[in-house]
Amino acid sequence: MLSLCQRAGGSCGACCGLYNRRDPSRAAVRAELARRTDALAPVPRTPEAFRAAAAALGADGPEPLFPSVRVCPLLGFLDAARTRVGCLAHPLATGGPDLRDCGVYDASICETFYCPSFSWLSEEEAALAEAACGDFHLYGLVVTDVPFLRAALAAVAARTRASVELRHLDHAPFRAALRRLLATKEELAPGSDGLFGAFRPAPDGGEAPRRIDYEAIGAERSAFDELLLCAGADPRSGNDLERLETEIERRLAGCVRAFPG
Ligand code: SF4
Ligand code: SF4
Repeated sequence: MLSLCQRAGGSCGACCGLYNRRDPSRAAVRAELARRTDALAPVPRTPEAFRAAAAALGADGPEPLFPSVRVCPLLGFLDAARTRVGCLAHPLATGGPDLRDCGVYDASICETFYCPSFSWLSEEEAALAEAACGDFHLYGLVVTDVPFLRAALAAVAARTRASVELRHLDHAPFRAALRRLLATKEELAPGSDGLFGAFRPAPDGGEAPRRIDYEAIGAERSAFDELLLCAGADPRSGNDLERLETEIERRLAGCVRAFPG
């Protein structure tokens, strides 16, 4: 089974509602995770105490952007350095009791849920995302949008005429350049298709096709359409298509320049 939620160099809390807020920036997300981690630290490891703490944290937390998508107040930082996001109610975090029933789902749902990326991503792609992203905030955005990661890697490969491999990321300038390209995901308007695209189901339960309506804005189809599409560049998402196109072109050129060959 692919390891995705917790890897040596990456951790994700997207399905616990990490980005479901009006301000999904790194600083705002970190502040909320720190608030929860600090508040839960002295709470007795009992269902009663954790349930009460979760209710209080949830009541004081930021408004969800999508009210129908749950935000669990038991997601926090797992490590002292506050680099790893994860479940503070998991037995590995509590030191014994499983307190996940005190969150917004129950322990059996938390234990058995696997997001769609588990069936789409290969181990190599997951390792590339882990090596390129550098921290939990970007890692969670990237591993939950497989088409975006693939489009970014394919766009680089098309220009360098070589597939991006893990060994290429040992070269720090290329790793930084690829991170800049992937970080487009962090700079989108709140609620844009690009941020939540991977979780947008069609009415029939399938995946809703994403498409930029160029006709509606009187623009030609971009040469970077696939990446822009995954980045949610449709102006109806609140993003500026031209600005994103220029940025992606610039960041792709940076990847090509830094590619170690
Ligand atoms: S969104 Fe997917 S990768 Fe992220 S924590 Fe949930 S199941 Fe794991
Ligand atoms: S209790 Fe479940 S939903 Fe809440 S943080 Fe833990 S794994 Fe996520």
